[in-house]
Amino acid sequence: MHDSNCLFCKIIAGQIPSRKVYEDEEIFAFHDIHPWAPVHFLMVPKLHIPSMAQVQPEHIGLLGRMMALAPRLALEQGCNPYPEGGFRMVVNTGLEGGQEIHHLHLHVMGGPRPWFKKG
Ligand code: IMP
Repeated sequence: MHDSNCLFCKIIAGQIPSRKVYEDEEIFAFHDIHPWAPVHFLMVPKLHIPSMAQVQPEHIGLLGRMMALAPRLALEQGCNPYPEGGFRMVVNTGLEGGQEIHHLHLHVMGGPRPWFKKG
């Protein structure tokens, strides 16, 4: 499913430029335009799922593959190896969860500290 009004669907389709990190048949990843950390990219399913609140049982495999891919992409993008290095993964959900773009996305952030507040 593609939502023609969705910014991230347009990025996936190449209608809006992005700095691509990774692409396969079901996952797209690109650098965040306003990074919070030395490494900050977003991983999105190509399927338009608005948020974690709409995740269905049939999406579990896809979300698992996104999570499992994140460590490899984090290293490729310059995060230092676990455990001295590592990265943070965040999924903002809904207004009170701080979500601005309503296409499910996984923030992956890392790099030398300090760059984030705990909590
Ligand atoms: P949210 O607050 O979790 O929805 O995060 C949305 C993220 O998308 C923010 O960190 C924005 O900086 C990022 N963003 C918004 N527009 C673009 C874009 O055109 N390219 C890349 N990242 C974007």
